[in-house]
Amino acid sequence: VGRDLAPADAANLPHTQAVAIVTELGGPTSHTALLARGIGIPAVVGAADILDVPEGTRILVDGTTGEIIINPTDALAVGAITAPVKVTSLTKPGATKDNRHIELLANIGTPTDAAAAAEAGAEGIGLFRTEFAYLGRDTEPTVTEQAESYRQVMSAFTQTGTAPQTGAATVEPIDPAAAKTSPHVVIRTLDAGSDKLLKFLNLPAEDNPALGVRGYRTAKIHPDVLKRQLEAIAAGAPDAWVMAPMIATPEEADAFATLARVSYGLKTVGVMVETPAAALMAPELYDIVDFVSIGTNDLTQYTFAADRLEAELQELQDPGRPALLRLIKAIGDAATRANKPLGVCGEAARNPELAPILVGLGVTSLSMAPRALAGVADALSALTFTDCAARASARL
Ligand code: PEP
Ligand code: MG
Repeated sequence: VGRDLAPADAANLPHTQAVAIVTELGGPTSHTALLARGIGIPAVVGAADILDVPEGTRILVDGTTGEIIINPTDALAVGAITAPVKVTSLTKPGATKDNRHIELLANIGTPTDAAAAAEAGAEGIGLFRTEFAYLGRDTEPTVTEQAESYRQVMSAFTQTGTAPQTGAATVEPIDPAAAKTSPHVVIRTLDAGSDKLLKFLNLPAEDNPALGVRGYRTAKIHPDVLKRQLEAIAAGAPDAWVMAPMIATPEEADAFATLARVSYGLKTVGVMVETPAAALMAPELYDIVDFVSIGTNDLTQYTFAADRLEAELQELQDPGRPALLRLIKAIGDAATRANKPLGVCGEAARNPELAPILVGLGVTSLSMAPRALAGVADALSALTFTDCAARASARL
């Protein structure tokens, strides 16, 4: 329990000893919350009066509902912690009721997470947050170290193919002809800056770090760090898809794509759309790159000018609002015209109510923490693509 927890501290928590995290500050898409969610530690952020609770008080924390019970009775506490937690694995590829394949992918931060994602039946990795493994490190990982971690992530899926592992023997892939020879793994280049400070980058202090030098922008200060990372991806996972975070203009997309393709021979290059500027230029971005992935956490914070770390602004940090969905529709229309993939890898993808709406707007893959996969798969399988499109237009 504390006022706040930096992502670097959350990343280094002893998994077996930390039973829950409660912070006074922070929003539900803060990186600390995402890290805890990935590890499976119940976390409640933005708990306004938590610091008034006296030291030593027993509390019960429910990370799913966000409920905190102070001084629970023994019966309640024992009942809560011994209740079986049902984590369902995916048993077949994601699809709408009328069999339109929507790839259900996993968000990961480490190669260990990749193995767990494969186990949970994810069809691949939609977002490898490569910076998570480097939080709290004083030195940049070597090219060899990085290449090894990318190789491990690929191999977690190469062993199982793209078909979900659990029940794969009994369930036919929706479109066997579309079976790929290499797994669908999307590696994102370092997304440092803002709340993710990587010591070895030594970035200057800023008054507004969320609007400052973060994501792809750090490559302007440290071009060699990006080049070494691309070199490592080319060495360890040459078939991976690679994307850059926080792209704001087609010029940035072009510079990144040219570097990745020409200098490092990477074949499938994309960008994240996380700024309204990029969303509005989606057709031009698709002229340049092979795929786009929408980071709804940042796209929401920048569209509503509502800091994702600010607990007070949760009402505005809602990706289901029409303003955000209209931006996503513009990207979806561009993807459909270009006939290229469009993913969502922000937290909106894990929401069973929003997932069909995103599909109705033209999204072709959804990437999330593995434990959310089954809920989203169920929501999609109950609706046809026409139903999804109808829900989307109602929301718009
Ligand atoms: C996002 O912004 O939605 C995203 C997926 O990137 P991150 O959460 O790591 O900023
Ligand atoms: Mg982001």
